Amino acid sequence: TRIIIGMGTCGIAAGAEEILSTAKNEIKKQNLSNIELDQTGCIGLCAEEPLMEIRMDEKRYIYGNVDQEKAAEIIKQHIVNGNVINRWLVDQESDFFRKQQRIVLKNCGNINPENIEEAIANHGYQGLARAVNELTPEEVIEIVKDAKLRGRGGAGFSTGMKWGFAASKNGRDKYLICNADEGDPGAFMDRSILEGDPHRLIEGMTIAGYAMGANKGYIYCRAEYPLAIKRLKKAIKDAKEMGVLGENILDSGFDFEIDIRLGAGAFVCGEETSLIASIEGKRGEPRPKPPYPTDSGLYGKATVINNVETFANVPEIIRNGSSWFKNYGTADSPGTKVFALAGKIKNNGLVEVPMGTSLGEIVFDIGGGLENDADFKAAQTGGPSGGCIPIEHLNVPVDYDSLSELGTIMGSGGLIIMDDQTCMVDLAKYFVDFCVDESCGQCTPCRIGTTRMLEILEKISLGEANRKDFELLMDMGEKIKDSSFCGLGQTAPNPVLSTIRYFEDEYFNHIDNKH
Ligand code: SF4
Repeated sequence: TRIIIGMGTCGIAAGAEEILSTAKNEIKKQNLSNIELDQTGCIGLCAEEPLMEIRMDEKRYIYGNVDQEKAAEIIKQHIVNGNVINRWLVDQESDFFRKQQRIVLKNCGNINPENIEEAIANHGYQGLARAVNELTPEEVIEIVKDAKLRGRGGAGFSTGMKWGFAASKNGRDKYLICNADEGDPGAFMDRSILEGDPHRLIEGMTIAGYAMGANKGYIYCRAEYPLAIKRLKKAIKDAKEMGVLGENILDSGFDFEIDIRLGAGAFVCGEETSLIASIEGKRGEPRPKPPYPTDSGLYGKATVINNVETFANVPEIIRNGSSWFKNYGTADSPGTKVFALAGKIKNNGLVEVPMGTSLGEIVFDIGGGLENDADFKAAQTGGPSGGCIPIEHLNVPVDYDSLSELGTIMGSGGLIIMDDQTCMVDLAKYFVDFCVDESCGQCTPCRIGTTRMLEILEKISLGEANRKDFELLMDMGEKIKDSSFCGLGQTAPNPVLSTIRYFEDEYFNHIDNKH
């Protein structure tokens, strides 16, 4: 029998450390020497943290919203007396769990992320073993191409093609970078993967290194993720000791090293050329492309950059094959997508669904609907670069192409739900304010344009703007999109333009002082 406490950042923030120490004391007090006390990462149900699981007789009993008193009671009742306390249990048959398809998050909330043996017992490093022992690098790339794995960071570019570009460069002087600089407000997909299953990322990167012929990889992670960094460091050390990272991996003759680099929290460093500059110790500013990083990236060498979720898909694809992967999702976007559900939604947390699942299913079935049963107004995807989806498009299948038809983007997976009390001008203002702060200042449309847009939005909020200001706001939005240098500026007006597209009346109500 094991007691497992959810010790992701979400759990810890809700008080999991106290639950852990209560459990420790109670085990001692009750003299339960045969009980193992363990930890795991985020299972996704952040809204019900702290979570405490009892694993016995191959069954999982998960208790939610546990406090110290409840924790002691659960141990007494469930473990000592054998009475399950049903009313405190999380319903594992609910739509929240049933309607998800967990590929990337398979082990998150299931294994102890600090124990490599648990990762291995749950298929960890089997994909790597197959890659280095049974497949040529070209075959690995072919499988990833055939699986149609698209970059999960937002752009949706074919991962196999990207690896192929870098593989075609001669020599082994190449680099691999994992972009773990998750910067969208409300997004925490990467953090939860790093905290819950760091070995999956290490395995995915090592397979990618083998495929493209690189011996060195960097994980560029924001310094605001101390727990993720701690677990990654331990995972890298353990993987080396286990012979699945470092020299002569699994006796294949292939060497691969991974180092961690910390970002200081600049949103623009999520853009690949700024990220490279930052790793090189320079100021994190974008540079012109071409040359693309696959031609000339880190230290001028061929470099592949993928995000955490993209790499995290790779081990299962190699282990099970591309046809297996294509069983999930849509024809153009196979597989799943991880979303962070935030805002006015009941089941705040982390979910993974097949691509093409409808937004309504995510919000109402999996997410449990809105807090206080309020009415749904809109969902924001893609963070400050994205846009909103109003109620009339609630049935849109969530995939790259359908979302871009609605004027928004898939983005990395932040999904913020708004209820009927949310002011859409305030929402637009929040994101533009974010971009004003995060603009690197290198080019005028973004540096000055977004500031002017924010000024007009503030005037609109105060009821001091007129229709001319509104037209100027729209015009500036279009021009900033067309003339900014990098993705940050090119997408900064999106939240404004998309809220205007669907909620123009709200802007006019402010302008005409109707509120
Ligand atoms: Fe910097 Fe903004 Fe220009 Fe990008 S668009 S280079 S973030 S000023």
